[in-house]
Amino acid sequence: QQAELQQYKDRAAVTLDGTKVKLLANIGLLSDVAIAQQYGAEGVGLYRTELPYMARSSFPDRQTQYQIYSSVVEGFPNQTVTIRTLDIGGDKMLPYFDAPKELNPFLGWRSVRVSLDQREMFLAQIEAVLMAATHGDVRLMFPMVTNMEEIIACKEVVAEAKQNLAAQGWEIPNVPLGVMVEVPAAIMMADHFADEVDFFALGTNDLIQYLLAADRGNPAVHHYYDSLHPAVLSAIAHMVSVTGRRGKGLCICGEMASDPECFAILVGMGLREFSVSSPSIFELKAMLGKLKIDQLCELAADVLKLSSGKQIRAQVAKFLQSSG
Ligand code: PEP
Ligand code: MG
Repeated sequence: QQAELQQYKDRAAVTLDGTKVKLLANIGLLSDVAIAQQYGAEGVGLYRTELPYMARSSFPDRQTQYQIYSSVVEGFPNQTVTIRTLDIGGDKMLPYFDAPKELNPFLGWRSVRVSLDQREMFLAQIEAVLMAATHGDVRLMFPMVTNMEEIIACKEVVAEAKQNLAAQGWEIPNVPLGVMVEVPAAIMMADHFADEVDFFALGTNDLIQYLLAADRGNPAVHHYYDSLHPAVLSAIAHMVSVTGRRGKGLCICGEMASDPECFAILVGMGLREFSVSSPSIFELKAMLGKLKIDQLCELAADVLKLSSGKQIRAQVAKFLQSSG
């Protein structure tokens, strides 16, 4: 079957009637670059930079990070690479990092909160990302943002990094700045955030866990963690509407984008940029190629009226079966 799917590598991701979507890759380690290329990813929608941090025994310095990031960027010539700043805490800890023991790590000192408190480390990372932007088309994004002050603070660090680099003779191109939408507050704040950012990225792995109060890694509450819960779809619909009205980019990079049933609904809802695990790219292209955009819009409109995730899943399964 993989051989049959291989034909999709160099094909665009389009519906039967020609609506194009962009399929980017989620990557972490340098070895993921070759895998993304192998599956014909059109760039990177999420580069999880904590993975190179986790794979070391001490903080990588600016030069080391620059080397890692620029080799990733060079792996995608003429394509965009979206680099996310360090996202540790919660389920991801660094062995050399002295972090407090917390009762609720997922509601605690994690992600951009850590970066903003460790300013020198944050500055070094942002400088390294900006330096790598001289090697290709780079976007920079901040994870788990919950309020406006954080965005302003992140932008101040970017401004300082640019100044430092300019003083050292670097000519840094324009790098679009974005935030991940991972907590319910970011959905409600999207219109305000749009004043400050160029693009948004839906991090549905976290968004689902925070919207539904169900730990993404806890099997005991696995059945509460439902990607197709109507509240999840409604939150995403709100982001499609705000970003459309404000002319801002919207990418979805949580795992649900790689799930064919969710993917069909998301395309119908108007999403056009997906960052997925590379091995799912062929299957998503194959499925998309059999469907018309009107059918998908109708599917999305229908399921958005339903009041349970179970019903939504049943409806989309039926739809995909009947359309071959
Ligand atoms: C997410 O939360 O959906 C996401 C893409 O980030 P991570 O899985 O790295 O937390
Ligand atoms: Mg996340």
